[in-house]
Amino acid sequence: MQSNSSDNDSRTPIVDYIIRFLLGDCHSEAHLVGYTSDVSRFGRYRVVIVPSRFFDEGVYLTSKSLPELPLQSVEGVPLLFGQPSIRTYGDTLVVDADIVASSFFLLSRYEDLVSADKVDIHGRFSGRDSLPWRAGFLDRPIVDEYGELLRSWLRTAGINLPEPPQEFSRVYLTHDVDALGLYRSARSFAGGIYRSLRGGGVGLRSVLRSAIDVRNDPAYTFPWLLRENARVTYAEKIFFFKSEPYPLGGYDRPYYNIGGRDAHRLLGAIVDAGCSVGLHSSYRSFREPHRIADEARRLARVVGRGVSQHRSHYLTILPPTDGHYYADAGIADDFTIGYAQASGFRLGTCRRVSWIDPKTMQIVPIDVHPLTMMDVSLSNAAYMNLSFDEAYRYAYKLMSEVRRHNGELVLLWHNTSLIASDNNYHSALYSRIISDL
Ligand SMILES: [Zn+2]
Repeated sequence: MQSNSSDNDSRTPIVDYIIRFLLGDCHSEAHLVGYTSDVSRFGRYRVVIVPSRFFDEGVYLTSKSLPELPLQSVEGVPLLFGQPSIRTYGDTLVVDADIVASSFFLLSRYEDLVSADKVDIHGRFSGRDSLPWRAGFLDRPIVDEYGELLRSWLRTAGINLPEPPQEFSRVYLTHDVDALGLYRSARSFAGGIYRSLRGGGVGLRSVLRSAIDVRNDPAYTFPWLLRENARVTYAEKIFFFKSEPYPLGGYDRPYYNIGGRDAHRLLGAIVDAGCSVGLHSSYRSFREPHRIADEARRLARVVGRGVSQHRSHYLTILPPTDGHYYADAGIADDFTIGYAQASGFRLGTCRRVSWIDPKTMQIVPIDVHPLTMMDVSLSNAAYMNLSFDEAYRYAYKLMSEVRRHNGELVLLWHNTSLIASDNNYHSALYSRIISDL
């Protein structure tokens, strides 16, 4: 690709993948779409996208390739590269808006690679520094909007294409099991007792009851979650479990023994309810990714079958060049990619997309299911800090976008976020969303 100057036909395998992705259900018409600035080739296609200089040698993977704000827009959709002009050349519609490079930029997490210094205290690419946030389109799946535009241009050029259905292609109700309960380790138990004696926390009786049986713990909200989830019969439900045996760092605490009685009983209930078990890879494995395969193996041993679904703790997804660590660990489906700081469409899409390595331009065999929203992203004072009504309105907006584009809705609610208290709206918000589904 980098060897191509923009004078030649730039239809490489990755460009072909992007065009097919944009067309979605109509991908069999991809041969009608060209990606070239060579006028002599225009007549072969019904729609031609003219490449910007994004992929050119000397530009690609350098800071010169980054879009500049303010962005232009094409038919109301923010445009990262190229010009919004559209013209005709014989029977062919020629579009100078480079929606191929614009889509590639978002789908491959290109910015994570080229602006790798923009990370937060956890080493995660910072949502607040991301282009979708800075340009104000994180709440719009603009790659899917490009897909709509491309289909409309093909129709203008005389191709008869069906409209996609306006419904969820899939709903995933997912839960990260960071802790089985609040008071199950010696440390958290001592802390609970201390706070209770000082008149704070959940009260001494609650702490003691949890110590006797985790099912009494205020964070053991799994039975409630299973009941709520059962209301959406068509949804897939996944619980992601940690399996790191020696958590050294504070961000991987509290520890629970995935092979112990408490976890065993919970896993049994989850599997009996028809839910899947996925790997919640540790915070530590973000720095030491060779651990991911060990964690996956350990969890697989406990559940008695291979584990192929994944989300990392703290949403610390590995850089886009390191997807092979997940693939090598047997991960086929990832559900991590969203920003903790703000819910929305980090990849510009709400549809399942292959993991793309922007350095090699190769597809890594992992299906990425973009995370639509996480409970604490909405409420946390350091994140979006929304009230119940604001959070519901925002959730509704994201859900409407997913429905409109026939995308996947991926929700992340933690069992530990559902602890009853006056200022916690997460159980009420989850119930309301479940009712909408
Ligand atoms: Zn977690």
